Amino acid sequence: MRITVFLGAPGSGKGTQAKRLAEDGLVHHFSTGDMLRAAIAAGSEIGLKAKVYIDKGELLPDDVMIELINKALNPLPDSSKVILDGFPRTVAQAEALDKSPRSRVSEAIMFEIPEEILVKRLTGRRVCKKCGSSFHVEFMPFEPGKSCQDCKGEFLYQRTDDSADVVGRRLSIFKTQNEGLLSYYSRLGNLKKIDANKQVDLIQKSLVDLMS
Ligand code: AMP
Repeated sequence: MRITVFLGAPGSGKGTQAKRLAEDGLVHHFSTGDMLRAAIAAGSEIGLKAKVYIDKGELLPDDVMIELINKALNPLPDSSKVILDGFPRTVAQAEALDKSPRSRVSEAIMFEIPEEILVKRLTGRRVCKKCGSSFHVEFMPFEPGKSCQDCKGEFLYQRTDDSADVVGRRLSIFKTQNEGLLSYYSRLGNLKKIDANKQVDLIQKSLVDLMS
């Protein structure tokens, strides 16, 4: 498999970009956050466990997450192209991927963006329950119950962990864990960086260039 990992703080745009890059159906996109939120919505065992951590902005244990991602990757053919968004979050998770030659990471792309922008983005983010697209209240004034611009479907809502107090906790955990991940991938020589404080289309173009 060719696995690209998107690294970056919550709100740095990894999900938006990964979703677009996977639109053609040629790339598989796995967002561990989305997988966990789906498990919560389904009321499954892992969902019940995940909710406790997510609501506090804390990371789930590595073994739970490694099992989740392995279950997602195992059925894919060796020729698959994969983008991982939100995984790995710790060096132990990164090492678990690299342990098997099949899931060895080809490149890690770090989405760089100033922290003050992240706080604004996250607390103003509204997400579609059906398709997962996210919007910002400033660019799409939020009215409760307003439907999604992308799928015209369900209502937009604010993630429980996008509240101001939980955002602070998530960003501080991110900073601590990300340093280790950057050194890990930089040591292996497969770390790339991108300026994620630009227009969505421009970032997309840089990503396509970096990943080709
Ligand atoms: P995200 O949508 O990527 O911001 O993830 C939302 C939440 O899901 C995180 O704050 C964690 O609680 C949990 N989560 C997602 N991915 C992971 C991971 N790789 N390791 C541990 N927890 C995770």
